[in-house]
Formats: sequence, C-alpha cells, structure tokens
Amino acid sequence: MNGEATAINPEVPPSGDGCVECLAESTWWWHLRRCAQCGHVGCCDSSPQQHASKHARELGHPIARSFEPGERWFWNYATGEFLRGPQLMPPDSRPVEQGAPAPKALVPPDWRSQLHSPPPDETAEGD
Ligand SMILES: [Zn+2]
Ligand SMILES: [Zn+2]
Repeated sequence: MNGEATAINPEVPPSGDGCVECLAESTWWWHLRRCAQCGHVGCCDSSPQQHASKHARELGHPIARSFEPGERWFWNYATGEFLRGPQLMPPDSRPVEQGAPAPKALVPPDWRSQLHSPPPDETAEGD
C-alpha cells in the first residue's frame, strides 16, 4: 500500500493533450495513459511506440490512469493489476474531439495493422 500511495500524486496536472514522446517524434498513438505520479501523458501498449509503459519502467512510476474520455481506471504496470485511485488534478482526459488514433494528420491508412495486440488493460472496461 505504501508503494501505491507514493506512486499516486493527485496534485499533479497532466503534462498535456497527447503523448509527450509521440508529439516530440511526430508519431501517432492509439490511446493515452497518464502517469499518476508525475502527470506524464504517454501512449498505451496497443500504440506502436508504447511510451506509457516505457515511462513506467524507466522512471519507476508504476501506476497510470487512463487519459481517455470516460475512463477512470488506474493500472499498475508493476503488478499488472487494475486499482482504484483518487480524483486527480483535471483535466481528466484528453479532449474528446482529438479522437483516436491521433494526431489525425499523422495516422497512416493502415494504422490498425500497426497496433500491438491488446494487453488486458486495453480490453477491459474498468469502471
Ligand atoms: Zn507515444
Ligand atoms: Zn511518471
């Protein structure tokens, strides 16, 4: 429990509207995850680059919350489990109009074939 407490900081706002690394590298993402500890927004494990899980691994920030509209679940990359967490600093998600995948101008026509097979956190509905 102590690990989870330090891995979630409700005072930190999200880093922005899109995956930090994808925006820097001009690549596209499928869904977004927000680091519950530092606010880093990264792309999910179905996205080609998988920046959210890389962030979790490289910085030792194990818990992320979905940054998709309407999704409120938290995911622990270290244990591979969903968990419940507190209300985080808004905004709660990316802008709805952004859509997925995004950014639209960078999404290739065959984007579906470039997705990684969905891990458990992509197929579950959460709450
Ligand atoms: Zn990314
Ligand atoms: Zn982080």
